[in-house]
Amino acid sequence: MKKYIKYILITILILLILAILIYNLLPQKVAVLTYHDFVLSNPENNMQISLSNFEEEMKYLHDHNYKTLTIDEFYSYINGEINIPKKSVLITFDDGWKNSLEAIKILKKYNLNATIFYIGSNLNNENFMNLDDLEYIKNNYSNITIASHSYDLHHDDSYLKDYDYLNNDFLKMKEIVNTNYFAYPYGLSSDNYVKVLKDNNYKLAFTFGPNKEHKKASKNDDKYKIPRLNFSTNMSLIKFIIRLKLPY
Ligand SMILES: [Zn+2]
Repeated sequence: MKKYIKYILITILILLILAILIYNLLPQKVAVLTYHDFVLSNPENNMQISLSNFEEEMKYLHDHNYKTLTIDEFYSYINGEINIPKKSVLITFDDGWKNSLEAIKILKKYNLNATIFYIGSNLNNENFMNLDDLEYIKNNYSNITIASHSYDLHHDDSYLKDYDYLNNDFLKMKEIVNTNYFAYPYGLSSDNYVKVLKDNNYKLAFTFGPNKEHKKASKNDDKYKIPRLNFSTNMSLIKFIIRLKLPY
């Protein structure tokens, strides 16, 4: 009986070593974490996360030595110009909700970088950050990059618009945010979108949203269809950690 247990333990150990070897041989992938709206109390929908839950996740990244890439670093990596540590992530916020201002305090506290994809036409909407807020971030938060989530294409059918319509929107956005990085509203892309992005010298565009694959990003991805993972919703820390560690 004792011998039997010994064989089982040795087999488990060998399988464990093999699993670790295989895991380390897999091509490197980067989790692009996507958040939307932050709330102080209980979230009312699955696009909201409480600030306490968010802080727990950011503390985990900090305490476990994750590198939070700037979007420029992420681009350089995807473009094959630099190597990055295996434990690297890119943190992104969509829409530019007003309470992003609270979330970035947490990022600063843990010395983490992030990118906010802002919707230009929301600058007079009190639920979203305004131009003063963007200027304040620029001057006080060197860890935060502001990028584009379009000027006014955050509508279900915008991705179906023709080249000129999309291009005009990009020209309007240029007056508000100077960037080369874009996140498609609702993650919906089109050939016209990609043409407009390239003609306006955008370097990366990120997908997200319903009916889209949520997976980690790699160098093999189309630069104009970089996948992201949904972290916008309250989840247990264990689930957060597992999602980070999964190889896809
Ligand atoms: Zn959005």
